[in-house]
Amino acid sequence: MSLAVNRRHRLAACAVSGVLLGTVLAVLPVASRPVATVAPFLPLFTMAVIATEGLTAFLLWTQFMITRAAFLAALAGAYVYTASTVAVQLLAFPGVFSPTGLLGASPQSAVWIWAFWHGGSPLLVVVALWARWRYPVPLTAQGAAARIGSALLLGPLLLSLLLCYVAIRHADWFPSLVEGGSYQRRLHSPSGIGLALLSAAAFVCLVATTRLRTMLDLWLGVAMLAGLGDIVVTLAANSRFSVGWYVARVASVMASSTVLGVLIWEISHLYRELHKANARLSEFASRDGLTGLYNRRYFDERYPEALTRAQAAPYPLTVMMVDIDHFKRFNDTLGHLHGDDTLTAVAAVLQASLRRSGDFIARYGGEEFVVVLPDCGAQLASQLAERLRVAVVQRGVPAPFTPAGRVTVSVGVATTRASQAATPEVLLAQADAALYRAKEAGRNRVAA
Ligand code: GH3
Ligand code: MG
Ligand code: MG
Repeated sequence: MSLAVNRRHRLAACAVSGVLLGTVLAVLPVASRPVATVAPFLPLFTMAVIATEGLTAFLLWTQFMITRAAFLAALAGAYVYTASTVAVQLLAFPGVFSPTGLLGASPQSAVWIWAFWHGGSPLLVVVALWARWRYPVPLTAQGAAARIGSALLLGPLLLSLLLCYVAIRHADWFPSLVEGGSYQRRLHSPSGIGLALLSAAAFVCLVATTRLRTMLDLWLGVAMLAGLGDIVVTLAANSRFSVGWYVARVASVMASSTVLGVLIWEISHLYRELHKANARLSEFASRDGLTGLYNRRYFDERYPEALTRAQAAPYPLTVMMVDIDHFKRFNDTLGHLHGDDTLTAVAAVLQASLRRSGDFIARYGGEEFVVVLPDCGAQLASQLAERLRVAVVQRGVPAPFTPAGRVTVSVGVATTRASQAATPEVLLAQADAALYRAKEAGRNRVAA
């Protein structure tokens, strides 16, 4: 569903509406002033309207297919209606593809199609609002989405084609609105005023029923205002190729592209959120739940990579196995919960003792940890292992019933040698063997 609106969004929508209103008011006094005829202007701007309305309809329809919200299908229908009506108007417009317009259009056809466009699209927004009220929950029932959705989409398309057909083939059924290049009669005809009132009423309907709480509702409102501005300025312009006529074409493009802009903005916003969520998820999947260190999975993946890099460079790589001494006894006497706290404390001490960014420590299993130190030779490795051991001793976690009286660790160290191409398994086994020797020799010590 569309995102909720915050104060910033409201301010932006108010600013755009303000600019729109200001432009309409500024243009009204000079709207009917004729300016140079730029023949390509109409087809260019009309193509922009067709493309944006069509894309908006497509995006709304794909959202409907996912969410099954009838409102979205109905709104897609409104945009399909406009795209189709505008496309036919372009074909029928005199002086674009032929002097009198294609499809056997009469001089009245384009202006009546314009009226159907500007009357139909606010009405269809009201239909969409009705659909939201009529189907408040997603259309999940068997076949409902297909049936109701396609009716809401295809109904407006058929209506558009029917109205255009009538406007082209039976223009004589309607009052004449255009004489020469002037369509002055449209302003004074009930149809002109009626269109403006209809468009305003649809806007009020949108505000009253939705309170413009979502991004889609808010910017649909701005688009409807632009549509209303388009009607008012067109009526005031009175003739083609006047100041008002040009400005109204720009307003049409604005009305048609506003919702498209919002949909694209929402898609990129969701993409950003998805990216963040994915990053959080993969971080989560590589961490041990108890200690917060990397887990065995992460180690199994990264350790062979680190070794391969070290051998390719080449530089030495050290692996350390760290095991808490007499931990079973600790658990047996103080309980597992206390054991868990101790594990966490030791993990934090070990983690804090690593300084270089390439180093990492993982919980290998139980109370065993494994440390990977790229670019670390045997001598430095012994010093670092000793530093880990001392850090744990200094942390001073009490461990009654053990010889030292506090928690200690034994460390087994193995470092790659330039003369041997060790496999990850062999190097790890060497560290494990060293750990075993450290335990044998009395624990709380380092063996390499
Ligand atoms: P040493 O290593 O010094 O030879 O003696 P140890 O008692 O530590 O030896 P061992 O490896 O056999 O015991 C490991 C114990 O660690 C077994 C189990 O009770 C405890 N342990 C393993 N995982 C956890 C854990 O997640 N939480 C707690 N509380 N205890 C754990
Ligand atoms: Mg142990
Ligand atoms: Mg162990």
